[in-house]
Amino acid sequence: MASGKQRASGLAALGGLVYSTDAGRMCPTCRQPVAQCQCKAPAAPTGDGVVRVSRETKGRGGKAVTVVKGALLDASALGELGKQLKTACGTGGTVKDGVIEVQGDHCERVMQLLKAQGYTVKRAGG
Ligand SMILES: [Zn+2]
Repeated sequence: MASGKQRASGLAALGGLVYSTDAGRMCPTCRQPVAQCQCKAPAAPTGDGVVRVSRETKGRGGKAVTVVKGALLDASALGELGKQLKTACGTGGTVKDGVIEVQGDHCERVMQLLKAQGYTVKRAGG
């Protein structure tokens, strides 16, 4: 008699699970839980796929820097590419907000390296 009562209350408790599905919402784009969704993060920028290489000196005390924009890579892949370019040019630089900066005027070298990796490369700016 007593066991029958317990079974009934157990089924009632299962009904309460309906509420917990709310926590499992998934992003339809990346199929990750919404809490971990990276879709809106600027890590992998979109664009026409053309990598633009330019030399900039503005606001840098006249020092040239080679700027690489438009590589459609996520943050870690872009960092890796930046490292390769810096190593190949024997100089330093930064990777930030989807842009690689290589210290010094290395446009030709950087363009060569990117083309060798299969990128569509264009010279931009000065
Ligand atoms: Zn997502």
